[in-house]
Amino acid sequence: MSLLRVTPSARSSAASRLLRLGIFLLLSLPDSKGKAIWTAHLNITFQVGNRIISELGESGVFGNHSPLERVAGAVGFPEGWNQNACNPLTNFSRPEQAESWLALIERGGCTFTHKINVAAEKGANGVIIYNYPGTGNKVFPMSHQGTDNIVAVMIGNLKGMELLHLIQKGVYVTIIIEVGRMHMPWLSHYVMSLFTFLAATFVYLFLYCAWRPRAPSSSSRRRRQIKAEVKRAIGQLPVRVIREGDKELDPDKDNCVICFDVYKPQDTVRILNCKHFFHKACIDPWLLAHKTCPMCKCDILKT
Ligand SMILES: [Zn+2]
Ligand SMILES: [Zn+2]
Repeated sequence: MSLLRVTPSARSSAASRLLRLGIFLLLSLPDSKGKAIWTAHLNITFQVGNRIISELGESGVFGNHSPLERVAGAVGFPEGWNQNACNPLTNFSRPEQAESWLALIERGGCTFTHKINVAAEKGANGVIIYNYPGTGNKVFPMSHQGTDNIVAVMIGNLKGMELLHLIQKGVYVTIIIEVGRMHMPWLSHYVMSLFTFLAATFVYLFLYCAWRPRAPSSSSRRRRQIKAEVKRAIGQLPVRVIREGDKELDPDKDNCVICFDVYKPQDTVRILNCKHFFHKACIDPWLLAHKTCPMCKCDILKT
C-alpha cells in the first residue's frame, strides 16, 4: 500500500483535483473586513445585608459601534411599565449618590441606536442591553450606528433579569465593564473549512492508495504468470539444427515467415506442436509476445 505505486498521470489528476478544491475553499473565505467580536467582562458588585458580593464573568459582547473601553458605574433601569427605553421621555431610576451610571435596558420595541441614544441623553455613561426573554444567555454584537461615543454591551436575558430584580428590590449594584477577548467568527469558519479540506484530502488519499493500485497489481500478477508459462512452453518445444541435404533447404519450401529469409545449413529452428517451424531467433520473441503460431494461430499453451 505504497504511494510509489500510484502512476504519475493518476497522481497529477489527483493533485489537480485537490488544487481545484483548495482554490474553491480560498474563494469561499469571507473577505478580511469580517468584523471581530469583542467580549465584555462584567465585574458586578452588590451588597446583601452585611455581605458584599462580587462576581466577574465574560458575560457580554460589545456592540459593533461601541468604543472598546472600560466603563464603570451604578446600574439604573427605565422607570415605568416596560424596560425597553424606546420612549424618548423615559426616566431612569438610579442611585442619587452615583457619579457614573450605566443604563440596564431590555432588547426590543425599537432599534438599539434609539434606546442607546435615549439613555445617553439622560446622562448614562454606558448602556447594558439584555436579550429577549427565552433566549437564555445568548448574546450577539449589536449594530447601533449613530450612537455617540458611549459604551454599549449586550448581555444574556437571564443575567439581565437577575440584575433587574436586584435593583428593583433597591439593591445598589455597580458594574465595571472591561474589554475581554477578540473572536473572529470568519476565522473559525476558515479554520473549519481548512480542517474539512485536510480531512477530505487524507480520506481521499487513503482510499486512493488502499483501493486503486490493487486492480492493476492483480492483473499485472496474472500477466507475469502467463509470461512465465509461455517461457516454459517455449522451452519445451524442440529445436533442430539444419544440415546439408535436409528437405527444409529445398528452394521450393517456405521461407521463415517472420524474417522472410530462406533456411541455410547450420540455422537453428524451433518446431511448434502444429509442425510449423521457424528460426529459433525469430520465433522465440514472437511467441513471447503472441504465444501463437504465426501461420496457423495455434496456441502453444493449449496444445
Ligand atoms: Zn527467421
Ligand atoms: Zn502452425
